[in-house]
Amino acid sequence: MRIHRLSQALINKIAAGEVIERPASVVKELMENAVDAGATRIHVAVEAGGADLIRITDNGCGIVADELELALAAHATSKIQDADDLFRVGTLGFRGEALASIAEVSQLALRSRTAQQPEGAQIEAAGGRLSDVGPCGVPVGTTVEVRNLFFNMPVRRKGLRSATTELGHVKETFTRIALALPQIDFALTHNDRTVVDLSGTARWRDRISTFFGRELAENLIWVESTDGDVQLSGYVAHPSHSRANNRMQYFFLNCRYIRDRSLQHALGEAYRGLLLSGRWPIAFLNLAMPPEAVDVNVHPTKIEVRFHNAGQHYGQLLSTLRTKFLSTDLHVRVRGKSDDPTGAHDDDQAAQLREELVGWAKGKVAQWETDAAADEADVQGTFDMSGPAGLDERLEITQLDRAWAAAGGRRATIAPADRGGPVAEGSLGERGEMVQPVGAAAGSSPPRAVQVHDRYLVTESEDALVIFDQHALHERILYEQLRSRLAGSPLETQSLLVPEPVDLAPAEAAAVVEHRETLARLGMNVEPFGGDTVLISGYPAMLANLPPAEVLRELLEPLMTAGGEAARDALLDELLHTIACKAAVKAGDRLAPDEITALLAQRHLVEHAHHCPHGRPTALVFTREELDKRFKRS
Ligand code: ADP
Ligand code: MG
Repeated sequence: MRIHRLSQALINKIAAGEVIERPASVVKELMENAVDAGATRIHVAVEAGGADLIRITDNGCGIVADELELALAAHATSKIQDADDLFRVGTLGFRGEALASIAEVSQLALRSRTAQQPEGAQIEAAGGRLSDVGPCGVPVGTTVEVRNLFFNMPVRRKGLRSATTELGHVKETFTRIALALPQIDFALTHNDRTVVDLSGTARWRDRISTFFGRELAENLIWVESTDGDVQLSGYVAHPSHSRANNRMQYFFLNCRYIRDRSLQHALGEAYRGLLLSGRWPIAFLNLAMPPEAVDVNVHPTKIEVRFHNAGQHYGQLLSTLRTKFLSTDLHVRVRGKSDDPTGAHDDDQAAQLREELVGWAKGKVAQWETDAAADEADVQGTFDMSGPAGLDERLEITQLDRAWAAAGGRRATIAPADRGGPVAEGSLGERGEMVQPVGAAAGSSPPRAVQVHDRYLVTESEDALVIFDQHALHERILYEQLRSRLAGSPLETQSLLVPEPVDLAPAEAAAVVEHRETLARLGMNVEPFGGDTVLISGYPAMLANLPPAEVLRELLEPLMTAGGEAARDALLDELLHTIACKAAVKAGDRLAPDEITALLAQRHLVEHAHHCPHGRPTALVFTREELDKRFKRS
């Protein structure tokens, strides 16, 4: 093949491939154009998730008739003049390729009128072929109509996901832009039904509230600071409100939604110790800075940018939040409702956390305990472990066991092992020995075991000392049981007398609806309920002791991360792990003797898989040889 120049059409198609991935990308580009045009009202209408139609109408400055053709041409823009402008971009767009790209891969109609023109004009394009410009009656502003996206790129067209999923992406895009610009009226309709209708407001909190609910909006903390010519401002959520992923972290740069690892990291650092492990802070933050201080021309969709002083912004965010948290009363509500379904708060615990936070911020505590077990541990129990040191501590165990019995047991229960035979009662020697004999698989000699620190089970095998992580062991057992049960029929459902509505983020709602059947196999019954609300009518009976909405949110995590591409089986597996993890006893749960027995009776399940699904070891083994050596016996 000889080298030859590509046709403009092909060049445009290649550019379109970069910028236009799915309907949501079209929505993003067109909404940004409307914003750049100074519109105060922007209406987005889509049909079939945007695959059939996307129409965006604005009341901005409009385009004069004799520039309509140019607007659709590649590399044509009114937003920059020369190369220097590239480094002081004050508009959302500037590359001049969006309209050309979209026109290349769809059937597009552009109608526009400026305030100076008595009437409007229009132009059409299909697969890049432009029609003549003709007159049309329209109000001042611009309407861009995009039909049959990718009609001339069958592979891309086929690659589009269900209307619900695509609509989810459209909503997320819409949300990002509408969140950044609260003063503008925005509306979104799908198949002629209103999805969101927002009036402009001076209060950012109001806009956040319409998207994410009053409950969250009322738990936002305002932060602001100035460092040189950089202004940081916005809201972060109280630690009692968090998410199982980082998708509720909205960062804006000069009102442009961006993703930035460094800022995300600073946010995470600021919340260190305030959230349980696996939970992510919620934030809506804008950085305002002179356009020269950042390069936005590093990513085709500009979702990533390059700051000239990334370190400075990192420091500013972290110190602003730290300072704010110190002066904010995080008392009582630390470990609030969402983490504690009973609504009971441990004031001492909260006070201690606060004290730790103060200490840490003052630089006294160098390192927070971060491992998951430590974080989970204070759910209950840990703070009781204040017995006297030394020999007496052994007796403590019996006493705490009685306290456990008196308290009427705990949330999690462990079914006795199928093949465990009669369960032996934990018996204590006259001197209150710490080792309790417990039953084991029929035939083998019963292992002796003891629970320590409310999280480990110490026992022996024929030739070794074995320490199990009780949570990991139980999780593994439940997972295996669930998997074999699921091979037969769906998991048992706990039906709700009154179905519970749950508000989700747009993309989350779409994912739930799309994977409805998979969820139903797991006993989680959900239905769309209009907008981004879904209705829970039943949920896995195994998790009946948790609030249904929380269970759904837990399941959302694997759904959102694996949901897209993963094969159904892999996703199912992920979901099973999540259920097993949530249903398993936690570190910090005091176990009754027969529970220990039941757990250990199934330890063979982990013998070949020494790791829990999160990659942490389930069991540690110290051979007798090793012990002998350490004690200098050999
Ligand atoms: P860019 O936004 O990068 O300049 P586009 O291809 O998106 O490139 O748009 C090309 C030009 O068309 C813009 O520079 C602008 O002058 C004009 N334009 C596009 N959309 C609108 C709109 N909604 N209102 C007014 N002008 C618009
Ligand atoms: Mg543009």
